[in-house]
Order: sequence, then structure tokens, then C-alpha cells
Amino acid sequence: MAILSLSIFSDRIVGQTMPTTHLIKEYPVTLGQTTVRLRVTRAQGRSAHCFLIIHDDENTATEATREHIQSAGGTMIELDSGGRRHLVFTMADGQTVTVDPNRLFTDAGLRRDLQRQNPGRSYGDDPAILREVKKLRRQVLTLLKTYRCNPVIAAHNNQDEHAVDSPEERGFSILSYAEGGREVKLGNTRRRPGNPSRVVGEDPDNFFIVTNPRDFERLRGRYNVVLQTRRNDSTAPGGRGPDDDGSLSVMLKTKRYINLEVQSGDKEKQKAMLADLERVLRGKKLQKQH
Ligand SMILES: [Zn+2]
Repeated sequence: MAILSLSIFSDRIVGQTMPTTHLIKEYPVTLGQTTVRLRVTRAQGRSAHCFLIIHDDENTATEATREHIQSAGGTMIELDSGGRRHLVFTMADGQTVTVDPNRLFTDAGLRRDLQRQNPGRSYGDDPAILREVKKLRRQVLTLLKTYRCNPVIAAHNNQDEHAVDSPEERGFSILSYAEGGREVKLGNTRRRPGNPSRVVGEDPDNFFIVTNPRDFERLRGRYNVVLQTRRNDSTAPGGRGPDDDGSLSVMLKTKRYINLEVQSGDKEKQKAMLADLERVLRGKKLQKQH
């Protein structure tokens, strides 16, 4: 509760790009001696959906989402962590800690990520470090509630197989969810006829991850889409739920959650997918691509 009330009192308006329609607020979160910011942009319009960009280096997603809410309306919450995918902060004793901001939403996933990002250290068992990282988790979840982000729509970018630095993200695409793919081996794809659903000729890097079967049905045929496994989904390999990697998609596995992945640089594609997602959220089935 201390964090929650602190964030309310530290709200401040830092800019207005359009009078009364476009409001920007910043929520600082201090981890150790390092302050990062969650920035909220709102635009009035027909739609009032809420979009989260958690990886600060995914600039295509940020630009596409900003332009999308400027025309459709809605709320964008973005993490400013210095322009990098991974958040790096310094503890009072000088220790530098690296964490992926989309791997901290569950305790088990956070511990795993701290071990992976900081080899040779035991940061995953350090209560002081865990306490600092959880401040960011709490602030993100508080904002998702405050801005009524239901469903949560996360916008991401990925890279071509040959252009990725981070090994765990290499080659991430709809193919990762197909038979033999990494996400299938981890038990993340819900076993169901036609899942994942691919569109012939569509770049495998551009796809949706959804938790709701109706969203899956409405998107399929028009876009690449995968239906993620739910908790205790007996149709998943081994009867497991999704692999607990600490991501928001795992934390929200039983809620309605939508993840939009587009290859970095293709802003127009990401905007088109956001515009079509608005139709899906209004209950429309998209036309198939020919
Ligand atoms: Zn991302």
C-alpha cells in the first residue's frame, strides 16, 4: 500500500500534446539507486482500450501504438528503462542487477530470470533485490487496474532470426508454437485443432498470442494467431500449464489477454493489426486473407 499511495501522490502532468484530449503522466519507480518511469499516454476517441509496451527498445510497437490511439482513442502505458530491453539498476552497495521487465510477474519466473541475466550471482535468492524488482511489478499491475486495462493488450517487436542478440528470443515467431517448436516443447500451445493458425504468405514474425478462444476464432484466417495454454490445461503436453517464465502472458493465462508481435521496423503492419484488433474487440470476425 505504501507504494500505491506514493505513486498517487507523485503523479504529475508533464506534457499535453493536444488540449483536453491527450494527457501524459509519468510514474517513477526507484529500484535501489536507479529510477525508471512508467509513462501513460491517453487519447480520447471512440475506443478506450489499453496497451502496454514493457520493452523499451521496441520502438516500432511504441510508435504504432501511439499513432493508433491518436486516431482510435485509448491508453498506452510504456516503460522507460533507458531504451534497453533489459532493465539495469544499482543497489545501495553498488551491485548491478539486470532483469527482463517481462519476466518479473511471477515469483518463480523472476527468480529464474535473475539467475539467467546475472550469471555467477545468486540474485534470485537475495530478498533485498527481489524486494526492489517487485516494486516495478506492483506499479505495472496498479496501473493496469487504474486505467481499467481489460483486456491487457501487450505490443511487442521481434527480430529476424539472424538479427537477434538475446539467445532466448532468437527466432521467436508463430513457428515457435508449431509442432516441434520451442513453445510447444515448453507446453505453452493449447492442443486444439488448427492451433496455431497460420496465414499463407504472412511473415511468421507477425502474430497474435491470445488466451480467449473467441479472440482466436475471430483473428484466425486473417492473421497468424496462437491460443496459449491455460493453467491446468489437460490438453497441453504432459498436462501442464504454460511454462512459468514470469511473463505477463503467463501471469494472465486465465484472463483475457492479447499479445501482438510484429517484426521490428514494420510500423504499418503493426498499426493495421491494432486497427483490426479493435474490430475483434467489438465482437467482429475478421475476413480471411486470400
Ligand atoms: Zn517485447
